[in-house]
Amino acid sequence: MIIRMVGLLLVSVLSLAVTGCRETVSTAPEGQTLSPSAKLETVQMLLEDIEAPRHSADGGGRAWLDPAPELNVVGGRNHFSIHYEAGPEGVAEGGAVYFMPSPFWGWSPPQTRDPEASGFCRVSTEAEGIDLEVVGAGGQLLVATVTGRAMEPGERLLIEYGAGPAGVVVDRFAEHGERLWIAVDGDGDGVRKVLIDSPGVDIMAGAPARLHLALPGVVRPGETVGLTIAVVDALGNAGPPFEGEIVLECDVPLADLPTGAPLQADDLGRTRVEFTAPEAGVVRIRAQVGETMSAQSNPMRVAADGPRVFWADLHGHSGFSDGTGTPEDYFSYARDIAGLDIAALTDHDHWGVVFLDRSPEMWGAIGEQVEAFHEPGRFVTLLGYEWTSWLHGHRHVLYFDDEGEIFSSIDPRYDTPPELWQALRGLNVLTIAHHTAGGPIATNWDYEPDPELEPVTEVVSVHGSSEAEDSPQVIYSPVQGNFARDALERGYRLGFVGSGDSHDGHPGLAHLASGIGGVAGIMAEELTRESILEAIRRRRVFATNGPRILLQMAVDGRPMGSTVEPDSDGAMVFIGVSGTAPIERVDLVRSGTVVASSPGQGGLEVKLTLHLEDLAHGEFVYARVIQDDGGTAWSSPVFFQGP
Ligand SMILES: [Zn+2]
Ligand SMILES: [Zn+2]
Repeated sequence: MIIRMVGLLLVSVLSLAVTGCRETVSTAPEGQTLSPSAKLETVQMLLEDIEAPRHSADGGGRAWLDPAPELNVVGGRNHFSIHYEAGPEGVAEGGAVYFMPSPFWGWSPPQTRDPEASGFCRVSTEAEGIDLEVVGAGGQLLVATVTGRAMEPGERLLIEYGAGPAGVVVDRFAEHGERLWIAVDGDGDGVRKVLIDSPGVDIMAGAPARLHLALPGVVRPGETVGLTIAVVDALGNAGPPFEGEIVLECDVPLADLPTGAPLQADDLGRTRVEFTAPEAGVVRIRAQVGETMSAQSNPMRVAADGPRVFWADLHGHSGFSDGTGTPEDYFSYARDIAGLDIAALTDHDHWGVVFLDRSPEMWGAIGEQVEAFHEPGRFVTLLGYEWTSWLHGHRHVLYFDDEGEIFSSIDPRYDTPPELWQALRGLNVLTIAHHTAGGPIATNWDYEPDPELEPVTEVVSVHGSSEAEDSPQVIYSPVQGNFARDALERGYRLGFVGSGDSHDGHPGLAHLASGIGGVAGIMAEELTRESILEAIRRRRVFATNGPRILLQMAVDGRPMGSTVEPDSDGAMVFIGVSGTAPIERVDLVRSGTVVASSPGQGGLEVKLTLHLEDLAHGEFVYARVIQDDGGTAWSSPVFFQGP
């Protein structure tokens, strides 16, 4: 159910400044087609919000917590005392102070009706002559309107959130600096502005409940490789209180793999052990903690030649838009918990409480973390953002250099895909369309993806699969004819990646809490930005819905992503799979249809060869692997096209 909530909550998260509503746009701007699920009224709302005049008293004053709240554990109960002090211009009579805890992940909605129920709020002031009219304004919003007289500079009010015996329930995902937002309408015209430095609280993980092991994808014989070991809570939150011995074992003899990894309390439930890769074969490592937790790693293939495979999550959100936690939390989770090789944080350009395209400070802070975590050969980070167009569909923008600009989807200069691509042309940058078949908004495929800037598409994420109607876990609100397979049938040459689109602060492991997520396998030579960019441009990528299934696919020896000239003898397709669970079946999709479906015989490994006949120009083939546990992987297509 979390999956659906992401989409629904997206629409309710805005800190809208406008109370009144003008007539909404109901048609496409002239000469443009739109996404089949375009949200014109959302765009209208955003534009009105930008235009709404902010009085200099709006957003004035400061807020803080006192006393400091007790430790917050995910899903636990607590209470908060938030003090607000009016700024130099005070708050006019008829003005208001707004309070909004995060609309995400289960914070009790603030309310004033039932003192016994959770989320009960009491708002008071010692300033004589001021009467506060306090109402829940729907959703997570509480409004305290100042009546009687104006609030003078320096006068205070107190918001007790969780004033009743039930307190409030805090959110279910661990993070640092979760904001309890305060906004102020200082002049009383109904337009408010948020306090950028609204007080924040830390949310700690719950009890240790699961173990996660991550190995690299494909490595060379004899090289040193790292096993990332993490103990997380039931929803995948990092850093539960844990001390103990993790026992390691492997079927393949690994001379220097330690038999165990002791974890101390200050290891925060994570460690990394190194060992030497054997000469050949597929390695899976198992781990056990007493009787309580066990896990098996993803498969790691040792091969003397052929491309390496690096694991990436190229799309996700932090508390800087509508996700969870800080950018530092995000990259630390990607590297040290999920054990990814590559991660990009792609917060929304103009969606959330404070907008990234209006906040050079936030964009700078993301850049600093991207730089701090970037370590070629070990962990590659990318600077990025999400071009969150409610007219044409969402695309994330990934920079492969240290710096990049935000070309906002709400800026009339960049609000169509061709305008975005025009702005990006010539840079080391990629765009990736996502949740293309539905979800919060489907892609407008009338614009052909720019062949240089958009060589791949995201077929799966926490929102579901956009691959095809016959895919497992199809995205919610699907639009018929708008799947990735339909885009290929239009003649677009797109490779396939999966990404988390995580909002829970768990890049690489979004599927733990949501039942579906996404990662990308990237077939590159080196773990550097240059090599990764080159691999994606050549579509040497494959997608999974979370589990790190290794997938190979080649046509007449040419790897996935290639363009091959059709030949009258037909072609041989090779598919190789190393699964994370027993493989149920391997499908071969040729142009619009599944043309072969081979049972997996219940094993973790599959190798098969299929012959294709009567190939014509414009056809494409790709492989889809489905495991018993729902884990699914998609190869990029091979395209048949003459010179
Ligand atoms: Zn999106
Ligand atoms: Zn997103």
